[in-house]
Parts: sequence; structure tokens; C-alpha cells
Amino acid sequence: MFILLMGPPGAGKGTQADLLAEKCGVPHISTGDMFRAAVKAGTELGKEAKRYMDTGQLVPDAVTIGIIRESLSKKENQKGFILDGFPRTKEQAAALDGLLAELSVKLDAVIDIHVPGTELINRITGRRICKACGANYHALYNPPRADGICDKCGGVLYQRDDDRETTVKKRIEVYNEQTKPLIEYYSRHGQYTELDGTKGIKEVFAAILAILSSKKTHDNL
Ligand SMILES: [Zn+2]
Repeated sequence: MFILLMGPPGAGKGTQADLLAEKCGVPHISTGDMFRAAVKAGTELGKEAKRYMDTGQLVPDAVTIGIIRESLSKKENQKGFILDGFPRTKEQAAALDGLLAELSVKLDAVIDIHVPGTELINRITGRRICKACGANYHALYNPPRADGICDKCGGVLYQRDDDRETTVKKRIEVYNEQTKPLIEYYSRHGQYTELDGTKGIKEVFAAILAILSSKKTHDNL
């Protein structure tokens, strides 16, 4: 299974990609996670990526395509994957098609998780993370017992730089401007399906599985 999950920041792509990766037994490849790991490790790639991420801009194509090329050169990623956060531009989509053609495979599905902008802002700006243990909270949906303190370890909670409201608005704006043309790109190839991402995690996951099984049935005809 080669599946691409699309959706604006805060749509729940990462969560759904993890569930799907487990269900299908294939790796979850997230460019966002790869960039954050590089930032944490302080590599040159990380330093370059951070400059863009902190201001809500997209990391340039050359850098992003490079990290995906490296990832797809690994054997364990060539039997299938759930790709999340890439491609973000038509140029990246074309580069991905080229990399997949080298492996003689095609995308099975491109699933776009749709959530309206106002809900995205509520979801993202409420996120809080424990500095000590990395536990996730949400100011509205999953608040800690004591304000700003981790329930599990007593650590201090913080907000990721790219989760602040002005940055989030910019991220959504950039997403809409640059990623929407991808809908056209993948619609032309008959791979694109949009689904309602405002429902609960389980319902959204069930909807994704339904899309995949209908694609499979269709391909077998
Ligand atoms: Zn903690």
C-alpha cells in the first residue's frame, strides 16, 4: 500500500497515519517528524529547516525532496508507506512520481482530510507539550489537572513555536495557497478523495479504511 495523506496542519494527519501504518504493516513517513528530529539533533538540515518552520513557511523543495529521496532509498520503505506532510507543492508531487517510477510503483490513494480553518486554529493553538517527558495536552480538549504542569511527571508544559496563533494562521494560509493545486494534480490521476476530518479519530479512521477498500475492489475489477 502506497498512500498519501493530505490535510492542513491540525487536521489529524499524523494520528491517522500512525493508525493506518499499524493496520497495513507499513512505515509512516512524516517529513514534519523528520525535520523536527533534525532540529533537535542540531544538524545542518535541522538548522536550515528551523528557520522556515518558526515563521510558518514551507521548507524549500530542494531540501524536502532530498530528505524524501533519502528515505525512499531505504529497503524498508520500498514495500509500501503512509506518507504525511509531503508533497506540499506540485514540484514535490512531480518529484515523488519520479521517485516512485524508479521503484516501479504507484500511489494507491491520496486522501485529503478536510477541516475548516477556525477549528484548525482552536485545535493547534491549544496544544501543550511537557518539556520533561514529551506528553501531549490540549488547553480545551485534554487539559492537565494543574495549569501548565504535566500530570505524569510534574514537568513544565510549553507551546511549540510553530503552534502560536500568528504562525498557525500563516501555516494555514501557506497550505491553502501552495497545497491546493495538488488537489487538481491528483484529481487528474483519479487518485484523490476528500473526507470530513471534523469527526472523532475512530470515525475518520473508519472512513479512510472504507475509501481504501473501495479502491481495492475497483482495482480488482
Ligand atoms: Zn511530563
